[in-house]
Amino acid sequence: GFEDSVLICDEVDPILNKILIDNGLKVSYEPEITPEQIIEKISTFNIVIVRSRTTITKEMIEKADNCKIIARVGVGLDNVDQEAAKTKDIRVINAVEGAMNAVAELVLGLMLSLARQTSRGDRAIRNQQWLKKELKGTELRGKYLGIIGLGNIGKRLGRLARALNMNIIGYDVVPIDEEFAKEVGLMKADLNTLLQSSDYVSIHVPLLDSTYHLLDAEKMSTMKKTAKIINTSRGGVVDEDALYNALKNGTLGGAALDVFEKEPAIGTKLAELDNVILTPHIGAQTKEAQSLAANVIAEKIIQILRG
Ligand code: NAD
Repeated sequence: GFEDSVLICDEVDPILNKILIDNGLKVSYEPEITPEQIIEKISTFNIVIVRSRTTITKEMIEKADNCKIIARVGVGLDNVDQEAAKTKDIRVINAVEGAMNAVAELVLGLMLSLARQTSRGDRAIRNQQWLKKELKGTELRGKYLGIIGLGNIGKRLGRLARALNMNIIGYDVVPIDEEFAKEVGLMKADLNTLLQSSDYVSIHVPLLDSTYHLLDAEKMSTMKKTAKIINTSRGGVVDEDALYNALKNGTLGGAALDVFEKEPAIGTKLAELDNVILTPHIGAQTKEAQSLAANVIAEKIIQILRG
């Protein structure tokens, strides 16, 4: 077995602990650890593992003199300072496979809920109101779904939505997988055309300098008045103030957000609006996704240690 020591900074599926320990690694499982404590002890670890709660900062990495691997049990790497890791020759790994189906299924559920306003109906009944007349919905069949970013999650969503007979429009900055495009009858478009033509727009890009506020007030103003935005990527990709204004003024039809510019998004003014569905960053929060990601990370770590 290996002798390396591992610091796990967030709550992860127990299978990860088990596989690492079975391979002889010394694991410190500290899902409540604070940033100050990480800075204090990071130098004694060879491997550092995080999920979403912890951010690995430049300051931490500067102290991580024995660290070989930083692993994120998930997809987005925006909570790890990758530049700093590079300068210290630390490998940064993630688990792209885990969340793919979980996030795509969440988006499907959010679209269905936006179309029929199930959240609003539920809230109303709890408030002794029967909104049957008000809640005349629409159907997803035949509607245009614009997917921004056709990586793992975007493609999975495209396949699921195609099964509901939606028309799929796609935009990416890299060439789109041809097999996927054929399978769903994809209409490739530039971002402006996608935004103008879609009834639903779902975003699946990473948060980068180039994707920060990718959907801003100007872009939103080109969309259909009835269009709905679903964001399960990262909060910073959508300008939340602009979204609030568009929804409030009726220049957009609705939105469903799983991610926010500031999380936890308790107190967000978006909660004032009835045409919005808010979920607390649960995209990858399924048993299946967490256990798959934990297995993938454990295997990657062991492979790297084997050389
Ligand atoms: P991926 O890397 O497989 O796909 C991302 C795609 O976005 C790539 O094809 C890339 O070329 C494209 N892209 C990059 N910049 C773009 C731009 N400016 N315009 C259009 N396309 C662009 O990633 P994925 O596994 O599909 O995940 C997508 C994102 O979803 C992740 O980066 C992560 O931030 C987020 N995510 C959220 C949750 C959640 O809990 N809500 C869970 C997992 C992932």
